[in-house]
Amino acid sequence: MVREEFDLRKLVKRGGETGEFIRHNKALCTGCGRCVKICPMELWELKKSKAFISPEYVEKCVECGSCWLVCESNAIEFSYPKGGTGVVWEYG
Ligand code: SF4
Ligand code: SF4
Repeated sequence: MVREEFDLRKLVKRGGETGEFIRHNKALCTGCGRCVKICPMELWELKKSKAFISPEYVEKCVECGSCWLVCESNAIEFSYPKGGTGVVWEYG
């Protein structure tokens, strides 16, 4: 039996222009990698001991806030996009 790959993006739809809603302060980043491990959409990566978020995050982020929650250095600022924009969960 072939298992279909689970894709979180199929559970949400998107609306409006969110603008930037995640900011990363590289000066505070210790390169611990917690954001890389926790992000369900694999939007963070480490380069030279600093985290980087994909420039596509505005289209792909599911707004779970996990990266912000696990960053012990306060290097990540996260705020939900303004009402009527961003993801709408269709299930769950
Ligand atoms: S969790 Fe915070 S400190 Fe750790 S790599 Fe990510 S942004 Fe940097
Ligand atoms: S809010 Fe969630 S999906 Fe978006 S970048 Fe952070 S961990 Fe990834």
